[in-house]
Amino acid sequence: MRVGVVGGGVTGLAAHHFLREQGVDSVLFEADDEPGGVIRSRRVDGRVLDLGPQRTRLTPSIAALVESLGLGDELREADDLPLYVYRDGRLRLVPQTPREAVATDLLSWRGKLRALFEPLTTAARPDESVEAYLTRKFGSEVARYYFGPLYGGLYGTHPDEMPMRHSLSRALDSAGIEGSVLTSVAKKVLEGREAPPIASFDGGLQRLPEALYADNDDTAHLNTPVEAIGRAGERFVLETPDGDERFDELVVTTPASVTADLVAEFAPEAADALREFTYNPQAVVHLAVDADLTGAGYQVQYDEDLRTLGTTWNDSLLDREGVYTCYLGGGYDPEVVEWDDDRLGSVAAREFEAVTGHGARVLSVHRWELGMPAYDRSWAALDRLSTPVGLHLCTNYTARAGIPGRIREAKKIADRLADCAESTATPPRTA
Ligand SMILES: Cc1cc2nc3c(=O)[nH]c(=O)nc-3n(C[C@H](O)[C@H](O)[C@H](O)COP(=O)(O)OP(=O)(O)OC[C@H]3O[C@@H](n4cnc5c(N)ncnc54)[C@H](O)[C@@H]3O)c2cc1C
Repeated sequence: MRVGVVGGGVTGLAAHHFLREQGVDSVLFEADDEPGGVIRSRRVDGRVLDLGPQRTRLTPSIAALVESLGLGDELREADDLPLYVYRDGRLRLVPQTPREAVATDLLSWRGKLRALFEPLTTAARPDESVEAYLTRKFGSEVARYYFGPLYGGLYGTHPDEMPMRHSLSRALDSAGIEGSVLTSVAKKVLEGREAPPIASFDGGLQRLPEALYADNDDTAHLNTPVEAIGRAGERFVLETPDGDERFDELVVTTPASVTADLVAEFAPEAADALREFTYNPQAVVHLAVDADLTGAGYQVQYDEDLRTLGTTWNDSLLDREGVYTCYLGGGYDPEVVEWDDDRLGSVAAREFEAVTGHGARVLSVHRWELGMPAYDRSWAALDRLSTPVGLHLCTNYTARAGIPGRIREAKKIADRLADCAESTATPPRTA
């Protein structure tokens, strides 16, 4: 069996790595001249900046990968620091323990008491929105001021636009939470289960895809966009500027609209469905700030009159001196990615000062046209998505978007293909 992997972001690189680890003949093609996709680290003014994700959870499978790639010495681990929501003119503590839940001014007493009735409510309904679900479970204050900004803020989508079954239900399922959220969380706390630590690397998060690439660079081609995918009997033909290559199985990790163009000729219905998925464009502005703020950062409650969606305090979280990262745009404000650097930078710095009281200097401005999958109503097209046997979609819309979810899905598909290579059975369809 010969496997072609399209895309050298973390998903493609991890899938390629796990396939080769199990002796499968795999070749990877990446359009860009560097590995990592949206995981991209830069050095500006002697400071390490991450233009996409700022950190990952060091799950056991990522820890094993870090170890096997020899990245252990470069690892930076962080504790879970206080997180804030900006609401009604102030930063308010997001409770992470029962004691903080009592103390925080994020919610009124009435709102806190209402949340305690959650175990009496019923489970998620597939077609309700995240906001409707959170309101029904915990009451409107928790929905609008606590979970809503935190969850919707991850994707830049208003929780009222996110159907449960394509978003939060998947997260709850993979966390093993059925029925009452409070009861499941309390059970985990009582069993002493903790979230894996937050982590990055001295040189930034891109060190992970760089190391995956370095370990497999004899069969991973940068600067080699796949221009079209065709068929030759049962096999797939990848057309690249360096010529055509044939494969028995394909793992395609590119964003939905790119994948749509690649498969349009032989899978037109899949292409039509893929074209419907919305991604939220995002602008990421890095600031240099001379302040001693302690925490992971803040999300802005979505009714506030700010363009900033949230910030990460890299200084305190990952010991990156003076670095703070602001996110703007998302589904609320997609046009901000069309602003020039000066306007984006000055809005981010001005709003940071308004929220924290600290003046800021702009270090860098970056835009992601296809940032995060929006997981909004356009994701209903997933129901119509079916791909030909042998073509496996392995991306942040077929499973969870976070880096741990990407590595998990890459491992799953590599294991399945390796099993089939051994038994010469046909791998089952995956999308
Ligand atoms: C701004 C932002 C912040 C985030 N923050 C976090 C965070 O803090 N923690 C976390 O865990 N996750 C975070 N995420 C999510 C996570 O980073 C992504 O879901 C994940 O990195 C996506 O990896 P991927 O390989 O699936 O896709 P991508 O990184 O999009 O990779 C796809 C690859 O395909 C390549 N490609 C495109 N067209 C072609 C072609 N024709 N031929 C060959 N190759 C092609 C692209 O160049 C790219 O390298 C964030 C994402 C964004 C955008």
